[in-house]
Amino acid sequence: MKKQLLVLIALGVAAGAGPAAAQARPATTPCPYGYPAAARPACVGGHTDRLLPIVYGRPTPHTLRRARQGTVVLRGCLVSGCDPRYYCPVHKKDL
Ligand SMILES: [Zn+2]
Repeated sequence: MKKQLLVLIALGVAAGAGPAAAQARPATTPCPYGYPAAARPACVGGHTDRLLPIVYGRPTPHTLRRARQGTVVLRGCLVSGCDPRYYCPVHKKDL
């Protein structure tokens, strides 16, 4: 009985440790952006055209130029491991 209690406490500490745990998604919720790397997601109504790639991290001068031209979307440096890769400017939706 005591052993089981210790195991439960250890699991609780491991699962709740660190500031990142507060932002972590529940393990039961699948990532909505978990499509294959080569796949292009479909937006509302199934359209796949006019989707803009989302760029994370510090942009290069070339990427900044592309962002100003409206061919990519910049999203900063914070990534969670479940991040959208495309943005639909028509429906204002992350994909
Ligand atoms: Zn759309």
